[in-house]
Amino acid sequence: MKQNLLDFDAAGLTTWFAGMGEKPFRAKQVLRWLHQFGEDDFERMSDVAKSLRARLAEIAEVRLPQMLRDSVAADGTRKWLLDVGNGNAVECVYIPEENRGTLCISTQAGCALECAFCSTGRQGFNRNLSTAEIIGQLWWAKKALGDFRDPGRGESPRRIAETDFPADRIISNVVLMGMGEPLANFENVVTALHLMLDDNAYGLSRRRVTLSTSGIVPAMDRLGDECPVALAVSLHAPNDELRDKLVPINRKYPLAELMSACRRYLDTAPRDFITFEYVMLDGVNDSEEHARELVRLVRDVPCKFNLIPFNPFPDSGFKRSPSLRVRRFAEILMQARIVTTTRKTRGEDIAAACGQLAGQVRDRTQRRDKRTINIAEAAS
Ligand code: SAH
Ligand code: SF4
Repeated sequence: MKQNLLDFDAAGLTTWFAGMGEKPFRAKQVLRWLHQFGEDDFERMSDVAKSLRARLAEIAEVRLPQMLRDSVAADGTRKWLLDVGNGNAVECVYIPEENRGTLCISTQAGCALECAFCSTGRQGFNRNLSTAEIIGQLWWAKKALGDFRDPGRGESPRRIAETDFPADRIISNVVLMGMGEPLANFENVVTALHLMLDDNAYGLSRRRVTLSTSGIVPAMDRLGDECPVALAVSLHAPNDELRDKLVPINRKYPLAELMSACRRYLDTAPRDFITFEYVMLDGVNDSEEHARELVRLVRDVPCKFNLIPFNPFPDSGFKRSPSLRVRRFAEILMQARIVTTTRKTRGEDIAAACGQLAGQVRDRTQRRDKRTINIAEAAS
């Protein structure tokens, strides 16, 4: 089988090229063609030696996931459905805002973690995405949005500063908040992160790339050591009893351990706070007492809160908290001097909002079957 070059970061490509007797600068040239100019045809990589182009065409390929659907929501949010083979498809979402453009990408076909309120979790799990499938989402989005550089103009790569919105760059931020748990697919995710951060590839600042995790503690430590980026942690409950039910991974890594891991992460993190995500579920985790308990829980962790109004999906069993309650909850956190924002729901009409991404997953865990049996048992 041909080697897919999209599976390599700069180090991997350099090593692979060295194996062919090629110099590191050749790897750099090809990396730029692939990820800065969005070129998938070796023949058009004009400054690469002709003999090397021919060799690459024999032994390598640029294999992207196939685009199945491109939907545009009334608010400009865009969602792409990408085929990753064997009946699996994943989704990725572009959210344009006044001062930034954010791409939300998936890291697994499905998710094995079964958070109670998440439609991806409900679907079951098939497999980890490869690096090519993860970075392929950014590649496709840039292609569709016309956000790749023009090789003819010979521009040099430029880092995106934290403060100014780069008018010439449509995708200024990437969040790993689509389908799947990124830290459960560590190697491939970190290789894809390297490409996002590389000046010869996508050149994003570490502060503009955010990984969201449900709290896999050992992998958070590893990320802090190997490739620190901005971190969001899906908290969703102020105590272990409730979090055990909503985010089952909590039974393995309870809140005290999670809070310590957050503090450790800040030693190497590019930002000096952790973002806690908190989905607002009517009558479940949204009372004033819950808010006060949260303030006590995060006392020693520099953090911001992002409240997410629950996005419904069929048979979820949950309801979105009324907006007045969300506001009251936010007030209590803010009175404790915790910066708190409430996430605007985007792209709801094309099911592109948080937790609504479902793609198409051939569940290998037979979760749906198990659930059907449980329901049948409960009914009998
Ligand atoms: N697996 C990772 C990242 C993907 S989920 C994680 O859990 O953090 C991205 C965010 O969307 C998480 O905070 C998740 O809890 C939240 N989410 C999941 N389902 C949701 C829903 N139905 N409504 C609102 N937010 C949801
Ligand atoms: Fe997986 Fe995140 Fe959904 Fe939980 S919220 S099931 S970890 S994708």
